[in-house]
Amino acid sequence: MNYYGPREVDGRDGRGSGRYHFTSKNDYRTEPVGYCAEGCAGHETAHEAREHFRQYLVNERVDFRVNHMKRPERCKICAEWTLSYARVEAWDYYPLCQEHLTRESVLTLLGEIPDFVAAW
Ligand SMILES: [Zn+2]
Ligand SMILES: [Zn+2]
Repeated sequence: MNYYGPREVDGRDGRGSGRYHFTSKNDYRTEPVGYCAEGCAGHETAHEAREHFRQYLVNERVDFRVNHMKRPERCKICAEWTLSYARVEAWDYYPLCQEHLTRESVLTLLGEIPDFVAAW
């Protein structure tokens, strides 16, 4: 299992650097994930690290499925019936009507990323 959450980056002297990455941690190692793994210099707060991972999920890990549900559900934004949805990988899915089947909707609905445990 991997434990996800913001963690302080180690400084060169082995103490905290005062900057945060969004990371995964298991028995073997801790490493930055998402955009924080792509040359990110770290964030001044844990909150900003969560936001960086949220941007990553919304931009890179969302599947939009048009007319893909067996039974209609209410759009999470406007409550219209819909068969379409956006799935945030290994996280959640949101029924969304044609008009609201966008990254902006997912960004609105996703909220702040909490600490979580996952097999990926
Ligand atoms: Zn980052
Ligand atoms: Zn809608």
